Amino acid sequence: MARELFLGIDLGTGGVRACAIDAAAQIVGTATTALPAPRQAGDAIDQAPALWWTAVVETIGKLELDRAAIARISVDGTSGTLLLTDGDGVPLTPGLMYNDARAGAEATRIGGIAPAESGAHGRSSALAKLLHLLAQGGAAPKHALHQADWIAGKLAGRFDGSDENNALKLGYDPVTRRWPDWLDKLDVPRALLPQVRVPGTEIGVIDAQMARLLGLSPSTRIHAGTTDGVAAFIATRASQPGDAVSSLGTTLVVKLLADKPVFAADQGIYSHRLGDRWLAGGASNTGGAALLAHFSAAQLEAMTPKLKPAQPTGLDYYPLPKPGERFPIADPNLAPRVTPRPDDDVTFFQGLLEGVAAIEAMAYRRLGELGAPALRRVISIGGGAKNAAWSEIRHRLLGVPVAVAEQTEASYGAALLALHAGPP
Ligand code: ADP
Repeated sequence: MARELFLGIDLGTGGVRACAIDAAAQIVGTATTALPAPRQAGDAIDQAPALWWTAVVETIGKLELDRAAIARISVDGTSGTLLLTDGDGVPLTPGLMYNDARAGAEATRIGGIAPAESGAHGRSSALAKLLHLLAQGGAAPKHALHQADWIAGKLAGRFDGSDENNALKLGYDPVTRRWPDWLDKLDVPRALLPQVRVPGTEIGVIDAQMARLLGLSPSTRIHAGTTDGVAAFIATRASQPGDAVSSLGTTLVVKLLADKPVFAADQGIYSHRLGDRWLAGGASNTGGAALLAHFSAAQLEAMTPKLKPAQPTGLDYYPLPKPGERFPIADPNLAPRVTPRPDDDVTFFQGLLEGVAAIEAMAYRRLGELGAPALRRVISIGGGAKNAAWSEIRHRLLGVPVAVAEQTEASYGAALLALHAGPP
C-alpha cells in the first residue's frame, strides 16, 4: 500500500500553517500563508471568513508532497472565534475573532446564568458573540460555527459539527457531554448549536468537488479538530496523566494531563476534555514580563551563561510585572516580592528565575490539591524554555524531568489528531 499521510491545518493568530506527517509521526511537509490583521474598531475585531478559506487553499497548494496520499485531515483554529452561516455554510456574519470584546452586555447576561465553571464566561466567549450576533437581526442563520468548524465544514461539505474543545466557550458541558439546560434561559436557539465530536474523530469523507479543487484523494477523511491551544499542547507529545507543559512566555501558563477534570473558576482554572483524559490549565501573571520589568531581553541573554543553577541564591522572590495574581494565589492585590536586591545582577536574575520556578511548582501542587495527578514530567515551551540553567533550577524545584519540546506548532498537533483519529 502506498504511504499514507496525515494533514494538520492550523488557523492561528498570524496565519495558516499546514503540517503533513507520516504514520510514524515524522514531518514530511509544511507550508504557511500569512493572514492580514483582522479589522479592528474599538472592542470589535473581525475578519471575513473567506480570507481564512483562501489562505487554507493556498497553503495546501504550497505543500510539496503527494497530496493524493493524504488520508486524513484535522483542523484547529483560534479559540472563541465565531461566525453564523446559512444552511449551505455561506457566512452571514464576519468571523468575530477570539479577542473580539464587543459582547460586554451579553457577557453580563451570561454571568448571571451560567455556572461558575462554564467556559462561556467573559466578553470574548463564543456564547457572548453568538448572543450579540443574534441580537443584530438579519437573515435567519442555520449554524453557529467556530473558525476550525467552518474550515472543516468546507472540506467535508457539511456544517453541522464542532469538537469538545472549541465548543467549550460556546457553553458546551464537557463533563456531561451535552449542551446544558441553562442555555434555554438565554434563549439560545438549539438548532444553531453544532453537533459536538471528540477531537480527532471522523466527520466524514471529503466533499468531492473540494478534493478535485485541492488535488486531494476523493477518499480523504475529514476529522474533528480542536483549538489552537490544545493542538499546541498535543504537539509537544505530552500524552500520559501527569505529563505537563509549562509555557514560559510573557506569562507562566501550566497545563497538566489529568484523568478527571479540574475546575476552580475563581482562579481561572478550567479543563478541556481530550477523549477520556482532561487537560487542566491555569495561568499565573509571573513569567517573562516579570523578568523584563528588571532587565532587557539582551541583558537576560548575556547573563544566562553566568547563572549557577547548582548554587541556590536563597532569595525568596515572587516576581510579578505589577501587583495582582490569580493563580496559584488568588489575590488581585498581591504585591511582587523582589527584595532584598543583591548588588550582583546575575544573582538577582537567578533569584527571579528561582522565584518563577517556585511559583510553577506551587501551581502544579495546587492543581494536585484540586484533584490532578502527581507530576510525571514537564515539557517547556516559550521564550524561557531555551534557558538550560533555568531548566536545571526548575528540575530541582519541580522534582521531575524537565525537557524542551521538540515540536510546538499547533499544525503538528492537529496532524497527530488526524493520525490517531482521536486524542493521542
Ligand atoms: P509570548 O509568546 O508570550 O510573547 P515568548 O514565548 O516569545 O512570549 O517569550 C518571551 C519571554 O521570554 C520574554 O518575556 C522574556 O522575559 C523571556 N526570555 C527571553 N530570553 C530569556 C532567557 N535567556 N531566560 C529566561 N527568559 C527569557
